[in-house]
Amino acid sequence: MEKQPVYILPENVQRILGRDAQRTNILAAKIVADTVKTTLGPMGMDKMLVDNMGDIVVTNDGVTILKEMEIEHPAAKMMVEIAKTQEEEVGDGTTTAVMLAGKLLENAEKLLEKKIHPTIIVKGYRMAAKKSLEILNNISSVVTIDDEKTLKQIAKTAMTGKGAEDAKEEFADIIVTAVKQIIEEDNIEMNNIKIEKSKGRGITDTELIRGIVIDKEKVAADMPPKIKNAKIALIDSALEIKNPETDTKISVSTPEQLQGFLDQEERMIKNMVEKIKKSGANVVFCQKGIDDVAQYYLGKEKIYSCRRVSKSDIERLAKATGAKIISNLNELSESELGHAKLVEEVKTGEEAMTYVRDCENPKALTILIHGGSDHVIDEMERAIKDGIGDISSAIKEGKIVAGGGAIEIELSQKLREYSQSLSGREQLAVEEFASALEFIPTTLAENAGLDPIDIITELKAKHKSGEAHAGLNLFNQKIEDTFIAGIIEPLKIKTQAIASASEVAMMILRIDDVVAASKSSGSEMRMPPGGME
Ligand code: ADP
Ligand code: MG
Repeated sequence: MEKQPVYILPENVQRILGRDAQRTNILAAKIVADTVKTTLGPMGMDKMLVDNMGDIVVTNDGVTILKEMEIEHPAAKMMVEIAKTQEEEVGDGTTTAVMLAGKLLENAEKLLEKKIHPTIIVKGYRMAAKKSLEILNNISSVVTIDDEKTLKQIAKTAMTGKGAEDAKEEFADIIVTAVKQIIEEDNIEMNNIKIEKSKGRGITDTELIRGIVIDKEKVAADMPPKIKNAKIALIDSALEIKNPETDTKISVSTPEQLQGFLDQEERMIKNMVEKIKKSGANVVFCQKGIDDVAQYYLGKEKIYSCRRVSKSDIERLAKATGAKIISNLNELSESELGHAKLVEEVKTGEEAMTYVRDCENPKALTILIHGGSDHVIDEMERAIKDGIGDISSAIKEGKIVAGGGAIEIELSQKLREYSQSLSGREQLAVEEFASALEFIPTTLAENAGLDPIDIITELKAKHKSGEAHAGLNLFNQKIEDTFIAGIIEPLKIKTQAIASASEVAMMILRIDDVVAASKSSGSEMRMPPGGME
């Protein structure tokens, strides 16, 4: 009998099976890891990314690079997800996390070559990841919120290598003060630190504003540019007469009637402004529109007003000034108002911004970044965000570790000891997991032009002899106690990186069949150049 081929998938589906699937997935993951590798650490290089509009991003930040690259391969996309998770959970350590996942997979490949089944590798990796978290908890140190010196070191470590060197002291000061200020009942909401940018001046002029800076000018020229002892009303409804529904008809048959209608409108608006005035407010931030008539009366009353302030800014203003956000002007009274020592309009170049300054005990505030160019300012923003993320993780968990590869080597050694207690082939996987961790100090050395083999050998020897904090200090290129040298990171960077890196590595290892529908590419829709003739 003649055999008939059986097709169960449509023709345009691409399928990769078994070892081939593993091989290509692992390769893709490794390429992603190698891409960000050169940016790791204080001596890491930057990348310049140019999009199809010609816009440029210059960055050292792992997650930013991967986001900008618009990666296509499915396994590579999973790697990018690791960076995103790391960014969301900690805000720093994105390069580390991606590199670890890449190395875990690369090492797994070695085991696959030795015919060790992926499920065994996955099992070993799972054991190693679990053990790592336990070990890390034991070998970390404690930090308290009052230990400002250590917290500043953590902020500085987060920012090294991000072009912020000249302003590191100032930034660290600002970040630690900001995070401590916005803590509410042990909760740190990073959104309550607003980062606003202003082009002009230098990065060392970056300032912490105990209040909120808003990218809005006052609505009318005759409003005062400066209000001392501001009493602030936050309104989330429009200061205008609602537009009648489009299908509502207003019939006016005489000019007097029309005038009457307009007068009525004006009276209503005037009434609104009077309510604001009566509450004692001298500043209004409105989330919606303020119409011309309202602007006129507010100006007449010398009430500083901004319109179309974003919802998030209104919420931050409430936290900063203690104001209650109100929707109905009838609810507005003195007790709903917030306070700031100064509200002012500041013009830099063509732009005008509103500064709400010197609030008492603000629970939201602003870091205003100054810098000569957008590229610099954007990279400073990323550096500061890394710092904020690290400080809040350190305060929340109260645990920190020694950087410069110290923690990775110590953990790796402890994992190797643990692997000795195992029998079976999982042991090999745990060992590969341990060796993957060495990729961090290896790369730190490599990126600084040092010989990684020498460095790793020396680090291992020191850790064997009990120096648990021995790491590579790239400020002086020495191997020493990095904790004492002030290269300190929150424990959470490491636990999160290990957790998500191993999770994704295991997920990719379990895949032995890739079924990919070929994309209906947009090019079919496009005409080739000159195709219309
Ligand atoms: P990530 O995106 O993973 O945070 P970074 O480029 O910020 O990558 O590099 C972080 C690594 O650099 C950490 O392992 C940290 O310990 C290390 N590091 C920071 N400062 C120093 C330093 N002065 N000497 C050596 N290593 C450092
Ligand atoms: Mg970092």
